Amino acid sequence: MSLDFVILHEDIKVVLQAKTVIQEWLNQVGLELKPEKTKIAHTLEEYEGNKPGFDFLGFTIRQWKVKSTKHGFKTLIKPSSKSIKTHYRKLADICDSIKTASVKVLIAKLNPVIRGWSNYFSTVVSKETFSKLDMLLWKRLWRWVSRRHPNKSAKWVKDKYFPHCKKTRNWVLNDGEYILNQHSDVPIIRHIKVKGNKSPYDGDWTYWSNRIGKYPGIRKEVTTLLKRQKNKCAFCGLTFRSSDLMEVDHIKPKSEGGDNKLKNKQLLHRHCHDTKTALDKKTYTQPKLQDLPENYLWVDDMLILR
Ligand SMILES: [Zn+2]
Repeated sequence: MSLDFVILHEDIKVVLQAKTVIQEWLNQVGLELKPEKTKIAHTLEEYEGNKPGFDFLGFTIRQWKVKSTKHGFKTLIKPSSKSIKTHYRKLADICDSIKTASVKVLIAKLNPVIRGWSNYFSTVVSKETFSKLDMLLWKRLWRWVSRRHPNKSAKWVKDKYFPHCKKTRNWVLNDGEYILNQHSDVPIIRHIKVKGNKSPYDGDWTYWSNRIGKYPGIRKEVTTLLKRQKNKCAFCGLTFRSSDLMEVDHIKPKSEGGDNKLKNKQLLHRHCHDTKTALDKKTYTQPKLQDLPENYLWVDDMLILR
C-alpha cells in the first residue's frame, strides 16, 4: 500500500524542512519516502528541471501565467496525462478482448468505465479532454466494426453501427436500443469557492452533527444547537467550518448549579470551550453571539483583514 500526499508552501525552505521531518518520522515507523516518487515542483515555474505543477490522484495541478488576473496567474486542475492514457488503454483493451461480441455487449462493458472516469473528473476543466477521448475511442470503434465487414462500404458500416439516434446524435455507436455513453455527456461542475462569513456546511446540519458524535441522542442535540446558533460558535461568534472541532458546553456550569437541559447548552469550538471553562472558574458572564469582527472575512481556512 502506498499513501500519497502533497505539501504546499510558498517558501521552498519550509517544504524542504517538512520533507526532512517526514523522512525522520517515516524512518521511525520503519517506512521511507521513495526518492523516485518524491518530487518537489513549483506550481508556476520550472524548478530544478521539474516542469511546473504536479500530479496527484490522477489530476494535474499547475498554474499558468495570465495577464487577466490580479496575481498574474491562474490555477488549472486537469486529468493527468497518465490518467488519460491508462483510461484509454482500458477502453482499448475492452474492445480488443471481445472482438466477436455483439454491439450490445461491447456497449455494456464500455459504458460503466466511461461514466465512472468522466464523473471522477467532472469537477475539473476537462471538456477538451472529454472530446479528445470520445474521438480516440470513436476511431477505435470504427476499426472494431469495419474489421467484421471487410467487404462493405463505409456508408454501410455507418448506417449499421452508427445510425441516427435521439435526433441530435450522429456517429455514436448504438444498436437502436443500447447507446454508447460519451465522455462529453457528463456535465462539468466547477467548484464554487466559499466566501466571506459563510461556512461550507451552512444549513447542512446532518453533516455537522455527524462529525461530533455517533450516538443519535448527541447528534440530535447538536443539530438543534447548530440551528439555534445559526452555525456559529457561541463564544467567538465565528461560523463553524468543516475542520473545526466542536464541543457541547453548559452555559451555566454544572458546578454552579447549571442543569442538563438543552436550554443550558451551547456549541463551542473546542479551543473556545477551553477558554470559557477557564473563565468560568473566575467569574461567570453570559456569552453573547457575535458576528465576525468588522472588516474580517474567512477565505478558505484563513481569517483575513479586508
Ligand atoms: Zn469559537
